[in-house]
Amino acid sequence: MSNILVYAEIRDGVFKNINAELISAARTLAEGGGEVHLALIGGELDAQVETAKTYPVDKIFVCKDAALANYSSQGYAAALEAIMGRSGPGVVLFGATSMGKDLSARTAAKTGASLFTDCTELSLEGGALKVVRPVYSGKVYLETVSKAKVQMASVRPNTFAPAEASGSSAEVVEVPAGVSADSIKGVVKEIVSAGGGGVDITEAEVIVAGGRAMKNEENFGILKELAEVIGGNVAASRAAVDAGYAPHAIQVGQTGKVVNPKLYIAAGISGAIQHIVGMRTAKVIVAINKDENAPIFQLSDYGIVGDLFEVVPKLTEEFKALLG
Ligand code: FAD
Repeated sequence: MSNILVYAEIRDGVFKNINAELISAARTLAEGGGEVHLALIGGELDAQVETAKTYPVDKIFVCKDAALANYSSQGYAAALEAIMGRSGPGVVLFGATSMGKDLSARTAAKTGASLFTDCTELSLEGGALKVVRPVYSGKVYLETVSKAKVQMASVRPNTFAPAEASGSSAEVVEVPAGVSADSIKGVVKEIVSAGGGGVDITEAEVIVAGGRAMKNEENFGILKELAEVIGGNVAASRAAVDAGYAPHAIQVGQTGKVVNPKLYIAAGISGAIQHIVGMRTAKVIVAINKDENAPIFQLSDYGIVGDLFEVVPKLTEEFKALLG
């Protein structure tokens, strides 16, 4: 059986949570045989290799070079292709994150592999990768099978239970990058944060989102308080972002981020289709809206009809009391 290679995403030096989910999915795929391999790419990776070693993988392929210090799709795709040459994978997994989407597309095109994006289920049938992925804005789930020799898939964050970091005896294999700074045509020179406190809401397990009804930026403070108490992150609808109440980095929806948390609390959000496509796969949806006919209630598991400025502080108090 062929090996399963996981591209381990590193952002700002941090080994991303999605990597543990992908390792867990890869371990399940490898149950019929084959090894689970991890691909680490970057400029300086000593700390990340130590983190990677704590996960249940068989080999860690490390491609480090000063030319790879900042992400570039060209440089990283070349490095990943070099790693694939050593790992011999039948399946390569990526997170369906901004970086994962970009890198998987380029590497698939470069290596002639098939690619399924934004998957929520994975299985192997006789060596063929079968995936389930939401299409038509999440209204339909499509099941597809790849017959390609090498099959790639990007996986929506918060889909699989993360693998436990309980230690492994993984062999570390250094792979030459085969790229130079001169050969990379598109170079990232500087990354300027667009705000949002550097939080990546695509990986958040709990989200408290506010809409136009928040009225101003200061009022988002009540959502932040609730989010802090229940260990969540704040997000916003486009109406709130366009009005300047919240940064675009935390916008959920068609022109924002697609999130997949365990809990999504929508406060003062009507439930327009362009918002829903970004959050409809959340495991539990709670809507707070003063209009009992708001479309968001058709999607929500729990609905509270009321003024969010009364309901949200009460929820915060109740959770504080419950959670100590
Ligand atoms: P509204 O629709 O104005 O809803 C506000 C809600 O708050 C209402 O239901 C109201 O009853 C309720 N409310 C008011 N006051 C209170 C109160 N005190 N307490 C409780 N409830 C209250 N939208 C996105 O969100 N994300 C996207 O990525 C996105 N992309 C788009 C792309 C395109 C091409 C287009 C055309 C639109 C896009 N939109 C997107 C916009 C989308 O169509 C809606 O306009 C937007 O989602 C509405 O945001 P909202 O629910 O916050 O505001």
